[in-house]
Amino acid sequence: MKTMACINCILRTESFGATDFIRNDRILHIGLFIIIVLLVVIIVRQHKYHLSQIAKFRKMQYHDNLTGVYNYKGFVNRVEELIREHPDIPYMMSFNNIMDFKYINDSQGRNAANELLKFWVDKSLEVMSDVEAIGRLEGDHLALLLRIGGFDKMQKEEQQVFEPVRDFFVNRGKDLKVRIVSGIYVLMPEDYENIDVDRMIDLARSAERKLHENKKDGYEFYNPKQWEKGMRVVHIVGRFPLALKSKELRVWYQPQIAYDSGKIIGAEALCRWNNPDLGFIPPSEFIPALEDAGIIYDLDCYIWKMVCHDLAGWNKEGKHRCISVNVSRLDIQKNRELPEYFCDLVQEYDLTPDQLHIEITETAYVEDAELLINTTSKLREYGFQVEMDDFGSGYSSLNMLKEVPVDRIKLDLRFLTGSGNRRMGQTILKHVIMMARDLNTGIIAEGVEEKEQADFLHELGCHAMQGYLFHKPMPVEEFEKLMEKMDSIS
Ligand code: C2E
Ligand code: CA
Ligand code: CA
Repeated sequence: MKTMACINCILRTESFGATDFIRNDRILHIGLFIIIVLLVVIIVRQHKYHLSQIAKFRKMQYHDNLTGVYNYKGFVNRVEELIREHPDIPYMMSFNNIMDFKYINDSQGRNAANELLKFWVDKSLEVMSDVEAIGRLEGDHLALLLRIGGFDKMQKEEQQVFEPVRDFFVNRGKDLKVRIVSGIYVLMPEDYENIDVDRMIDLARSAERKLHENKKDGYEFYNPKQWEKGMRVVHIVGRFPLALKSKELRVWYQPQIAYDSGKIIGAEALCRWNNPDLGFIPPSEFIPALEDAGIIYDLDCYIWKMVCHDLAGWNKEGKHRCISVNVSRLDIQKNRELPEYFCDLVQEYDLTPDQLHIEITETAYVEDAELLINTTSKLREYGFQVEMDDFGSGYSSLNMLKEVPVDRIKLDLRFLTGSGNRRMGQTILKHVIMMARDLNTGIIAEGVEEKEQADFLHELGCHAMQGYLFHKPMPVEEFEKLMEKMDSIS
């Protein structure tokens, strides 16, 4: 009996101990869990704090405490970044300074002067739509990187900023006008290649200093000519889409003749642009502008189509004519299937490929030889005549002729006889003509202005010519009349 009671007692003790142990274990687990959660929360908070401290430090490092815009270091970094990312955008750097700021500080107190700076920055951010970066370099020196937009717009916006800043104290019942001086530097092509923001700021600042020394407020350009040029390029590129839709862009034709017979054997299509606002824009101005903006292909497609349209019209009248069109090296890069594009065009207008002569400028062969060789070979395979334009303007022409067979070389007399020793030019001309004959390549001379030149070329065996001596480029109506006259003579 005693033994039984003892066993019972042991069993009871054991069963109590087991549940207790499980309960204790759960508490331990919960406790551990809470500690881990707490630790995680602390670590995350610490990390966040650390990150916010870094961000704060970075902000302090690159931003101005007073106005919140970039400080010198931040501004330079940001401008570098912008120019690197957008090398195609025309920018200008503006350096702004408040005249007699020290006097304002002394007379109105530091707080009021600080309020003025904040007001100025806020107004600039609010009004100026072309601002890409703004920085307070030090004290009252504010620098802005701006996109070059319209001149009128810039002037209007500057007024909207400068006027309330000028009257900052007047509007607060004080008899004190604020004067701002602004120096502007328009970025040059080399600034995009070798980005030196300190230098850009210095140049803008030197324009500002000039004004400052003359005790004038307002703004001054470091390079006014560059600004005008920049503005004109902006206008040209900006108006181009509309010009494509209107009748502003025209094709003019410059006849090419056979010197011995005097007959017109073809013509070169040259683009002319007459804009109601900008006036007559020469190709030497708009072609490079459109090339730089990456939209020359749009112009060329338009011109090629107009030429095909004219050729189709003449075909219908039973006049099979041949026209040379210009192809920019960028067109070849833009449309890697340019030969196929020309095939489609010829088919669409019901022409034969021999009616289109494709002029590719010589320098293009030097730049991307493989692509050029491919394109040229295909074009010739499809039946187009390929001409190497501006022969004599580059360096590798002779060598390239071996690599890329073309149908015709277009010798530009302005390159070969324009300046320097006339006799030397003539000797080169003679040998080029001889070489073309040996290679069985056609040859045409362009830029022929004097009878003497024409006679000399003729003697050497170059009979195809183009130049002011014979005809200047002319509108299509005039070209048609001329052709009719020639047709009636023969
Ligand atoms: P380019 O292809 O060498 O065209 C010949 C240029 O020489 C034309 O200038 C023509 O008017 C000019 N010219 C012709 N004969 C004489 C002459 O006897 N003396 C002088 N001093 N000049 C003569 P333009 O029309 O001003 O065109 C300039 C350049 O612009 C062209 O040179 C061509 O590279 C480019 N261009 C013109 N139209 C187009 C086009 O539709 N597309 C492309 N991509 N380029 C074009
Ligand atoms: Ca040409
Ligand atoms: Ca040429």
